[in-house]
Amino acid sequence: MKLLEYEAKDIFREYNIPVAKGYTVTKAGEIDGREKEFGDEIVLKAQIDVGGRGKAGGIIITKTGDAMQEASKLFTKEIKGIPVEKILIEEKLPILKEYYVSITIDRSKKIPVILFSSDGGVEIEETARTNPDAIQTVRITPILHEIPSFMMRRLLKDAPKELAPVINSLYRVFCEKDALLAEINPLVVTEKGIYAADAKLVIDDNALYRQGIKVNRDLTDRERRAEEFGFSYVELEGSIGVIGNGAGLTMSTLDLIEYYGGKAANFLDVGGGAARDRVCNAVQLVSEMPGVKVIVVNLLGGITRCDEVAAGIIDAGVPQKVVVRLAGTNEHAGREMLKEKGYDMPDTMEDAVKTAVEVAEE
Ligand code: GDP
Ligand code: MN
Repeated sequence: MKLLEYEAKDIFREYNIPVAKGYTVTKAGEIDGREKEFGDEIVLKAQIDVGGRGKAGGIIITKTGDAMQEASKLFTKEIKGIPVEKILIEEKLPILKEYYVSITIDRSKKIPVILFSSDGGVEIEETARTNPDAIQTVRITPILHEIPSFMMRRLLKDAPKELAPVINSLYRVFCEKDALLAEINPLVVTEKGIYAADAKLVIDDNALYRQGIKVNRDLTDRERRAEEFGFSYVELEGSIGVIGNGAGLTMSTLDLIEYYGGKAANFLDVGGGAARDRVCNAVQLVSEMPGVKVIVVNLLGGITRCDEVAAGIIDAGVPQKVVVRLAGTNEHAGREMLKEKGYDMPDTMEDAVKTAVEVAEE
């Protein structure tokens, strides 16, 4: 789950990473004069969970006296299509130089990797493409609580060594907060010292419970309901809904859709022993996704009984065509029930997927 800048900065404060003085408001009327202590100029920062706010008009540098007026304007805007519901009001840092630092997991090496660049502030993807030598990386075993100094020297190259404690603190944040990404862009040098001028933290969804986070804000309503039902569910972009049992069978259904030139709308694994109401919930959930034209149900009856599955599909009664591939326990009974209601039941998984791709193309 992505944390907003101000939430990440609250964590940074706990770890002694310097951040600008600031407070958040949900409407201009909540501006209470605290910003007057921040100096002649302040920064208004839209709290939305996408990057590149600066370029998109979500970061406003203004005179402290104009806080109310500028905040009112910012609240009426949409930044990259997202309405502004919260603004962070901060002291303006007198920036001398901007750096980039981030920590993420190197999935191939299965250990944290730290990226640093003296070319901060701008979009790092751009730097990575046009000037990859400007980004230093080191990989570090998570057994260590601190980045060894020889690695730190390699990372910083000619950058001031005063940045090192901040990077070490960021590494602690990364480890202790179960982060998948911890990023400061820009990490800035000012006359008053070093500051994290921006903050990004993505917490591993599997660690939310341990981190005391009860609700995963990043889930769609359907994803949240799927979680309650106990389904493994991921939303994709296509028009063919997919329901399977077992991750392997569901994945191979997705692969076949791709193979026959279709686009899956989702991944949904109902799990083992899926009874009537589970199947019904799954079919209805997938049917509610906008853009779903057809649904493939690909279930193998083991513990799962095909007649239960058939009853669940019929109960769901969704408007889209449902193509069913059933095999295994009580297969015959299940097929009879569906046939009676006019469902399409190709004999093989290949045929089921082909039929669905054809319907999706109509
Ligand atoms: P992002 O565009 O969403 O990454 O938002 P940032 O918080 O990184 O802000 C974008 C840019 O605005 C930064 O790279 C800075 O150049 C500028 N900026 C943000 N805060 C300050 C500040 O306190 N002082 C100054 N001078 N510039 C700032
Ligand atoms: Mn930034």
